[in-house]
Amino acid sequence: MLYARDGKPAAGPPPAPALDPSRSHPLTPALMSDASAPSAVSMDAIVALAKRRGFIFQSSEIYGGLNGFFDYGPLGVELKKNIRDCWWADMVRRRDDVVGVETSIIMHPKVWEASGHVAGFTDPLVDCKVSKQRYRADQLFFSPVVVEGAVIGYVSALESERTTEDLQAAAETLKRKKAVQGKLEPVSPRDFTEAKPEEVPLVPSPATGEPGSLTPPRAFNMMFETYVGALRDASAVAYLRPETAQGMFVDFRNVVDTGRVKLPFGIAQIGKSFRNEITPRNFIFRSREFEQMEMEYFIHPDADWLACHEEWLRWCQDWLLSIGLPASHLSLHEHPKEKLAFYSRRTVDIMFRYPFGVQELWGIAARSDYDLKQHQQHSGVPQVYFDEATKQKVVPHVIEPAVGVDRILLAILCAGYAEEDVTDDKGNVEKRTVLRLSPRIAPVKVAVLPLLKNKEALVARARELHAKLKRNYAVFYDEGGAIGRRYRRQDEIGTPWCVTIDFETIEKDGTFTLRERDSMQQRRITEAELFQLLAEQVY
Ligand code: ATP
Repeated sequence: MLYARDGKPAAGPPPAPALDPSRSHPLTPALMSDASAPSAVSMDAIVALAKRRGFIFQSSEIYGGLNGFFDYGPLGVELKKNIRDCWWADMVRRRDDVVGVETSIIMHPKVWEASGHVAGFTDPLVDCKVSKQRYRADQLFFSPVVVEGAVIGYVSALESERTTEDLQAAAETLKRKKAVQGKLEPVSPRDFTEAKPEEVPLVPSPATGEPGSLTPPRAFNMMFETYVGALRDASAVAYLRPETAQGMFVDFRNVVDTGRVKLPFGIAQIGKSFRNEITPRNFIFRSREFEQMEMEYFIHPDADWLACHEEWLRWCQDWLLSIGLPASHLSLHEHPKEKLAFYSRRTVDIMFRYPFGVQELWGIAARSDYDLKQHQQHSGVPQVYFDEATKQKVVPHVIEPAVGVDRILLAILCAGYAEEDVTDDKGNVEKRTVLRLSPRIAPVKVAVLPLLKNKEALVARARELHAKLKRNYAVFYDEGGAIGRRYRRQDEIGTPWCVTIDFETIEKDGTFTLRERDSMQQRRITEAELFQLLAEQVY
């Protein structure tokens, strides 16, 4: 029994419905069983598709763009909304133990003092004084170049899947350039936060290739500052929130007092967060304005926190499968004990294999009672819960699953994207680009296509079906061009099904042709069957 305390079992969270992975991605079993093949998709292809089909644009593009900020276009906004809606439905509405909030983006500056962000939400910044480029020290790797036991210089490379290979290649080049004889030893990469003071001037800048221009790392606070009210002095400074989580802690008492919640329970929120990242990169993976879905799950201090943490870790993985991410691309990263924040008991990240490497998607942290205690101390307002069982006031501990919507969306595009050779009826081979998106989150669920646009009866029936479907679903009506071309257009944006209204529909039994995106197979289907299919797959 989970969360037992004082020997008495307490109710654990009820299992979330709709998390049966076998239901999750019915159209693409191949993806689900894919072994750990390296990601064949290039980021260039994803970025090009995102722009071409109106998923994602660079923000303020006509003015040259603003680094680290993005806009979502007509299809992107639907996809993003579907991710949010699925999370909210599964995390909040379909559970009895989680409630939602929406807190303000700008909060009292003391919130960020109490949470530790003012003092410690920093990344180590390195400047190149010559090129004016800025780097995160923990993403800048270097190594001494050693020949026959003697250091002949240093090489550097930015973090990538090939950091060690890049450093080794640079070391060989340096040895050749300096015409040093003897055996080159393998490089020993370290990140720049580990550089000794005497090494700093010897490491070449990645921008210029020359040593001497890099500054020692210094702490750079990533919170965006602004001013509240008409004055622009220190007393008016406020911050754009760098995470949504503090909203849940600060409103803890409000929810307990008004929400009839009982431990264990969670408070969830979806909203924008802002971080002045030193090196925003990899498209929407690391941006300066992004959206988070976070949940603080409060448990009794004596509860079995480890079991609760494990359960949430499982839940998060199941949920990712339920929206169509393939298990083969997911892995876990346990933060080593010595790298945990002092208040954290355990943090495990769910990692995703992006084209640019395996990176954090979702962090699941056991944060003890740190946050509530900090706010209790800084505000002077008790952050306690009255435990009926023991008649004692306790400060609950918390398990926090925190994930970024944009990172999920990027993972979905990367996992779903494929370019395939297909053979048409006449034996011609052509390329098709397809996005294998789960019906749960696909921006368009069904495309309705009259076979011919100049046959009034076909068009009328197609329009009637379109009107009926769009009451409940995102549907697309398309009558332009050859039917094969219309299918391809839908494949590229991830529409799971196309329904064609043809002569059999109007002259015979009323059935339509249903064409499936992934198998490209076609079958006849009645209107009732179509609605049933949608009800089962879009939830
Ligand atoms: P990273 O180590 O990649 O900077 P983090 O550990 O600082 O991430 P958290 O503070 O745990 O991230 O935030 C929770 C989640 O928010 C992350 O797992 C990620 O999905 C998302 N996230 C964090 N920073 C960004 C960002 N700059 N752009 C997009 N998503 C982000």
